[in-house]
Amino acid sequence: MNLVLPLRRGIIFIVSAPSGAGKTTLSRAAVREIGGLTPSVSLTTRRPRNGEVEGIDYRFVSEEDFQRRVDAGQLAEWARVFDACYGTPRQPLDEAIREGRDMLLDIDVQGARSLTARYPDDTVTIFVLPPSFEELEERLRGRGTESEQAIAGRLKRARDEFRAYPQYDYLIVNADLADSLRQLDAIVKAERLRVARLREEIAPWKS
Ligand code: 5GP
Repeated sequence: MNLVLPLRRGIIFIVSAPSGAGKTTLSRAAVREIGGLTPSVSLTTRRPRNGEVEGIDYRFVSEEDFQRRVDAGQLAEWARVFDACYGTPRQPLDEAIREGRDMLLDIDVQGARSLTARYPDDTVTIFVLPPSFEELEERLRGRGTESEQAIAGRLKRARDEFRAYPQYDYLIVNADLADSLRQLDAIVKAERLRVARLREEIAPWKS
């Protein structure tokens, strides 16, 4: 019997949302408040926005560097979103699942689909919606980081992305951050207790 193995596999929690739904704020609060969740740091070819920090918000790389990593099989999934490429490094996910640690990913609908296909037993998907499209538009403008054209593009995409929510395991309507955080906390805690995640072969009550 190998006592070094953890009692359960780690879980990949995937949060997707139309941009402006408050997903980034919610994910950050979840990492801070829920405990035991490691954020995945994606690679992206887009430029950093004001205040974004290399290695924390993203790893900002060139198109060539991104392509090299895709070719080398370093990404668990990747997608082109708004003219830039975004991808999830594979190794941290594999290690977390094996070592019984949980990760939180903030990725788009295409990425969520690829990862659930790749890790069908170890992913939990959560869709976050703003209370209304009007609210979404206000939040996008309020951010003040983007041109009108970029905002229009994000709104159109939000309407398209919205249709994907039936493919997800859970839906959170983010009207109030504290409420949404409590809901996410409940999801995480319940998923950690699922019998299906136990490594049966090492369960101490199994003789
Ligand atoms: P933003 O440019 O606003 O940071 O992100 C744009 C979109 O890309 C968001 O929907 C975000 O969830 C998604 N995204 C960020 N990282 C990844 C990733 O690693 N893979 C995929 N597929 N989407 C990502």
